[in-house]
Amino acid sequence: MKFLITGGAGYIGTNLANYLLKENHQVVIADNLELGNKELVPKKAKLYVADLRDKRELEKIFIENKIDAVFHLASYSLVDESMKTPGKYFDNNIISTLNLLDLMVKFNVKYHIFSSSVSVYGNPEKLPIDENQLLLPSNVYGQTKKIAEEILSWYDKIYGIRFVSLRYFNAAGDDYGIGEKRKNETHLIPLLFKAALGSSEYFTIFGNDYPTKDGTAVRDYVHVTDLSKAHLLSFNYLEDGNKSEVFNLGSGVGKSVKEIVKIVEQITGNKIAIKIEERRKGDPAILIADYSKARKVLKWNPQKNIKEIITDVYGWYKE
Ligand code: UDP
Repeated sequence: MKFLITGGAGYIGTNLANYLLKENHQVVIADNLELGNKELVPKKAKLYVADLRDKRELEKIFIENKIDAVFHLASYSLVDESMKTPGKYFDNNIISTLNLLDLMVKFNVKYHIFSSSVSVYGNPEKLPIDENQLLLPSNVYGQTKKIAEEILSWYDKIYGIRFVSLRYFNAAGDDYGIGEKRKNETHLIPLLFKAALGSSEYFTIFGNDYPTKDGTAVRDYVHVTDLSKAHLLSFNYLEDGNKSEVFNLGSGVGKSVKEIVKIVEQITGNKIAIKIEERRKGDPAILIADYSKARKVLKWNPQKNIKEIITDVYGWYKE
């Protein structure tokens, strides 16, 4: 198969590209390299440096390649930033999805696997979170993913483009020696390694007054290769003629920020200096996945637990 990955030079995208190539598929990548790393794009993938907001740049890819399915990962994805610059998020995340869908219609591409997020739920009513919970995003980033999912539903009804929306919990871990490499790092695990290994003086915990057992926010960390597997399973699911669906992708286990700090300290053998700051705007207290739907329908079973995830990342830092 020939797959188009948007955002394929980003952290999850490069992992997905490597995985799909390993499974003997062809990979075309669209990425404007604003956040992506060109040097991490696998050699066998065909990279187009294109901004999805520019329909003409994007169209060139569809003209030059017969695409079987689109994996749409490209988006801005930082909760905190989305609350400071909402217009940037609505503009990029919505327009790029619309442009892509219109080109899928024009070039008769039938399958869309969408990178959604746990952020669509906001502060959940019940834990763990299943797909039937109300979607009440507590930040603009989650709102853009909710709107994109609604747009996908309309393109399904009107044009028959079938989609799977994958609501990722917290992607982490390393495979293919890529590490958790992002430009302008803001994520928990890589920042903890920087503090543990001495490239920053301390680590900042955003909020220690959450209604959780130790006061810090709880998240569900899922290995990036487990996510990649879910993407290919989703394509197979659509190709088998099944209807559009949404799935949660998490490990089902919640860990607080302080618990993750401890695990990184244990694995590196180094103590991390901690500073406490205010909560970030829009951050929910606890997010834990009920992924039984993905397990039943896609036969998806995440393999790596949080210790294995962090050990993998340490391996990359050591190298
Ligand atoms: N976090 C933190 N300090 C940091 C980065 C993150 O305390 O420097 C917390 C953040 O508030 C959240 C969790 O760690 O509760 C995971 O944050 P991350 O940015 O990695 O992912 P997100 O949950 O925002 O997608």
